Amino acid sequence: METAVVLGAGIMGLSAAWALSRAGIAVRVVEQDAVPNPRGSSVDDHRLIRHAYGAHEGYMRMVDPAYAAWDLLFAEAGERLYVETGVLALSQHDGGWLAESRDALAADGRATQTLDAAAVAAAYPFLRPEGIAAAFRLDRGGVLLARRIVAMLARLLAARGVPIERAQATGFDADRASLTLSDGSRREGDLLVLAGGPWTPGLVPGLAARVRPTRQIILRLAPPPEIAEAWARAPMLLDLAADGGFYAVPPVAGTPLKIGDHRFAPTADPDGPRDATPTEAEEILGLARHRIRDLDRYRLLGAAACWYDVEPEERFVLERVGARGFVMSGFSGHGFKFGPVLGLALARAARDPALHGPLAAWAAGTAPPTPGLLDELQGHRP
Ligand SMILES: Cc1cc2nc3c(=O)[nH]c(=O)nc-3n(C[C@H](O)[C@H](O)[C@H](O)COP(=O)(O)OP(=O)(O)OC[C@H]3O[C@@H](n4cnc5c(N)ncnc54)[C@H](O)[C@@H]3O)c2cc1C
Repeated sequence: METAVVLGAGIMGLSAAWALSRAGIAVRVVEQDAVPNPRGSSVDDHRLIRHAYGAHEGYMRMVDPAYAAWDLLFAEAGERLYVETGVLALSQHDGGWLAESRDALAADGRATQTLDAAAVAAAYPFLRPEGIAAAFRLDRGGVLLARRIVAMLARLLAARGVPIERAQATGFDADRASLTLSDGSRREGDLLVLAGGPWTPGLVPGLAARVRPTRQIILRLAPPPEIAEAWARAPMLLDLAADGGFYAVPPVAGTPLKIGDHRFAPTADPDGPRDATPTEAEEILGLARHRIRDLDRYRLLGAAACWYDVEPEERFVLERVGARGFVMSGFSGHGFKFGPVLGLALARAARDPALHGPLAAWAAGTAPPTPGLLDELQGHRP
C-alpha cells in the first residue's frame, strides 16, 4: 500500500494522516472547512485527558498508551501542548461513576487520594462543600490545548508533504478507496479513511443506526478577581450528580475557565446553529450553582454549541468498511485524548489484515491491544 486518502481534518483524520505518513504512505487529506475548523468536534480551547473512566476499564487502560502517543507527537513537533492539572472527582452519592472509577483505578494499581467535604472546601475555596458525599483526587491528568494541537498537526503534515485539500466529499467507494467531491472529481488511493466527525453518520450507509450527532453546550467564564489565581492552579473538576452533573476545565495557558455537562442532547444536524441560547446557558449554570461558590459573580464570556458523534455506550467505531476503507466514528465526548494513539494503531493495522478485528475490539474498549498494534510506542513513556 502506497497511497491513502483521509476524509476530515479533525484530531482523528489528522492523527491518522500523521501516522500513515510516518509509515511511509503518501497521504492526502480532504477537509470541507478551514483548518482548524471551529465547526469540528476537535476545535476548542481544551480537551481533557484522565484515567478516571467509571466502569469503562478498557478506556482507562488506553490512557497510558495515549500519553505515550502524545509524547511521540509532541517530540516530533518540538512543542508540548499539554498542561498537567490533576483530577478532582466529586459526587453527591458514594456509588455510581465515582465509585466505579475509584475501584477500577485501585485494581489497576493507581492510587487516588480520598477527600471529605471539609477537605475539598479547604483545598478549593471556590467550591461549596454542601452535599459532597464522596471525592477523590488523582495527580495525573490534564488539559490538551486542542485548537493549538490541530493547528500543530496541520503544520507537521505540511512539513511532511501531506496536502490538506479544501473540498467537500459527497460520496465514497471504499472498495476503490475513492472519495467523490462536490465538483464531481475523485480522489483515489490504496486506502480510504473516513473521519468526518459528526458528519460521518450521514455519509456512511448503516452507521446512523449506531452513531448519532449530538449538540453539546459549553460556557466560558471569568471568575471574580480574588479567586482567579486559585482557579488557575485548580485540577479539572468532575462533579457528578443524579442529573449527570457538570465538569469544569481550569483556565490554563491563557484559556478561559470552561464548564459543560455530559448529557447527550437529542440528535441534531451538525450544520445547525453554533450559538447557544440564553436558556441553554442558564441550564448549564444551573448544574454548577450548587457547587461553585458565588457563581453569579462570574462573568459569562461566551456560550457555544459543539457537536460530537455518539454511540449508545460511548464506544468508538474504528472498523473496516469495504475492501480498502476504515471508518473512525463515535468518538463522543471522550475521543480527543486518543487521537494520536488510534492513528498509530490504524496505520499498523492498515498493513496487516490480522490486526483489523483486534483494532476494532480494542478501540471499542472491549479488548486489550493485540501485540503489534502499539509497536510504534516502544521507548515512549506514558
Ligand atoms: C464540548 C465537547 C467536549 C469534549 N471534551 C472532551 C474531553 O475532555 N476529552 C476528550 O478526549 N474528548 C473530548 N471531546 C470529544 C472529542 O473532541 C471528539 O471525540 C473528537 O474531537 C472527534 O474528532 P473527529 O476528528 O472525529 O471529528 P471532527 O473534529 O469533527 O473532525 C471531522 C472533520 O471532518 C470534516 N468533514 C466532515 N464531513 C466532511 C465531508 N463530507 N467533506 C469534507 N470534510 C468533511 C469536518 O469539517 C471536520 O473538520 C469533547 C467534545 C466536545 C464537543
